Amino acid sequence: MSIIVQKFGGTSVANAEKIRAAAQRAVAAKQAGHQVVMVVSARGKKTDELVRLAAEMSENPAAREMDMLLSTGEQESVSLMAMAVHSLGEKAVSLTGGQIGITTDSTFSRARIESISTDRIRKHLDAGEIVIACGFQGIDPEMNITTLGRGGSDTTATALAAALQADECQIYTDVEGVFTTDPRVVSAARKVSLLAYDEMLELASLGAGVMHSRSIEFAKKFCVPLRVRPSFDEGEGTLIANTGEQRMVAGLALARNEARVTLADLPDQPGVTSCIFACMAKRKIPVDMVVQNVAVDGKATVSFTVQEGELADTLTAANEAIKILGAGTIRSGTNVAKLSVVGAGMRNHSGVAAQMFDILLKKGINLQMITTSEIKISVLVERDRCDEALLAVHEGFCMETAVPQTPEIGIQQKTKSPECDQSEDQLLSRIVSKLAKMEDIVVSEVQLDESQSRVTLHHIPDVPGTCAEIFTTVANKNIMVDMIVQNVSDTGHAEVSFTVQRTDLENCLKLVGELASKWDDATVSHEPEIGKLTVVGIGLRTHTGVGEKMFKALADANINIQMINTSEIRMSAVVAADQGKTGFKVLNKAFNLVEEA
Ligand code: ADP
Ligand code: ASP
Ligand code: MG
Repeated sequence: MSIIVQKFGGTSVANAEKIRAAAQRAVAAKQAGHQVVMVVSARGKKTDELVRLAAEMSENPAAREMDMLLSTGEQESVSLMAMAVHSLGEKAVSLTGGQIGITTDSTFSRARIESISTDRIRKHLDAGEIVIACGFQGIDPEMNITTLGRGGSDTTATALAAALQADECQIYTDVEGVFTTDPRVVSAARKVSLLAYDEMLELASLGAGVMHSRSIEFAKKFCVPLRVRPSFDEGEGTLIANTGEQRMVAGLALARNEARVTLADLPDQPGVTSCIFACMAKRKIPVDMVVQNVAVDGKATVSFTVQEGELADTLTAANEAIKILGAGTIRSGTNVAKLSVVGAGMRNHSGVAAQMFDILLKKGINLQMITTSEIKISVLVERDRCDEALLAVHEGFCMETAVPQTPEIGIQQKTKSPECDQSEDQLLSRIVSKLAKMEDIVVSEVQLDESQSRVTLHHIPDVPGTCAEIFTTVANKNIMVDMIVQNVSDTGHAEVSFTVQRTDLENCLKLVGELASKWDDATVSHEPEIGKLTVVGIGLRTHTGVGEKMFKALADANINIQMINTSEIRMSAVVAADQGKTGFKVLNKAFNLVEEA
């Protein structure tokens, strides 16, 4: 019999009427012949209310007690939901995370799921009951209640769907589905019918608040078809699955509360990045928008962003790193926001970055940092102007009018994607089946690209339009730019590095040489042969350990890193050409992958 998981978010169960409506949906699915598991969040703003109450008790409440407290919000709503189902004449049972057997590690407030026992749920389902599970919570090996992080009910839902091999996981929420960007911020945002797991993974981790990013990791790893649907009407919502869709721009995400940190005057030697990442990973700080540019005068600079709330911890970790390295200075700033463009079609098209930079130039918005990865471009802008930037990019890419390129897939249709049979997914499922714990990091492949060159423009004006001019000039000549990193500047000047195919190098150097000659003191350097090493997987950025492992393996092999970019699905480092093969070998070893011939 088919199993459907239905998750209802806070606003969708805020009052008795809404709880009843949610119960009716579950009952309807049950009566249509499915076995139904509901995952329910705390009602309305209940969790926020509990957080406020805790703050009244203590400035620094114990993490264990916080989880104990916050988990009660969900316990309240599941029992009410069970009563609502009973009153509709169906059998139902409410269960806490612990009662189900959702085992997590002991990292209170952001615990990771280790395993889920399905025995109890299956017993209830087979007895004809609707199972109503508390979202957002689990239990650690010592029987302490843990929570998965704010918004974590989505992750409970996809993890349960994965463990039960459900036919579909439906996420009922207060919007019609996933939009091109937050519809509450940009009223012209448009609902998207179909998104690839990779697109949603990037969007969610880059700040699109509609889904907990870890929930998409489960969906992709275990091939769970996911549908985000409105709880207030019968809309079809957005299907998130494996898809061949190749839109250049699928969505935009804005992370308002970013902070930037720069470590400068570092020794330019192997191990520097590794040391910084290790210090951050030790404190479980997810490091974002890492920008390491080519060293000048033997001194390296590494910049990155973190969530503003993590800044104090990050500065402590950065100080530790500098102490270990024996040199370095730290700068940081908070008035910044990160705007990202995501689209699977970027894989095969150049010019999206140039277009984005040009749109922002026309608004006079300066780009403080830039980092690109295979299917996303992120820029750091002044926080006060981030909404304006978001709106301009949404309009500039005509996202409100773009016609969906794929037909709607009906909800009744069996949506387990046929692509799940393809070899990439077989490789993935082989790796996933060997995981010791459900939420362990998945690294599926290491790649070495020896076909590119690096180009760097030093000392360029740190004013709106510089990057737009560089990348438009290059894109106009059909030169495909792969990695772009631009660092933050506190001196009125910036530095941008990018990679191009070797065959395009000569043309590219001519173009940027002409540009540089217009700018006082700007110079161009390049390296015709580089190795680009990429680790491919799922949830790479949100698992702080991946960068640590990758950069440690390279440092141990005495390999210096020239450029870095990171995303949820890929983490790349540019190294000297003659070190590419060694790097490839040590990374395969570090991630226990069999090296392909
Ligand atoms: P729930 O309580 O159902 O989990 P959330 O508040 O977590 O709901 O997520 C839904 C909200 O996400 C919407 O109200 C919307 O404002 C916000 N959001 C942010 N980005 C997007 C997006 N790209 N598409 C749809 N909603 C988005
Ligand atoms: N109730 C929790 C929160 O507000 C979990 C969730 O809603 O997903 O974060
Ligand atoms: Mg949510």
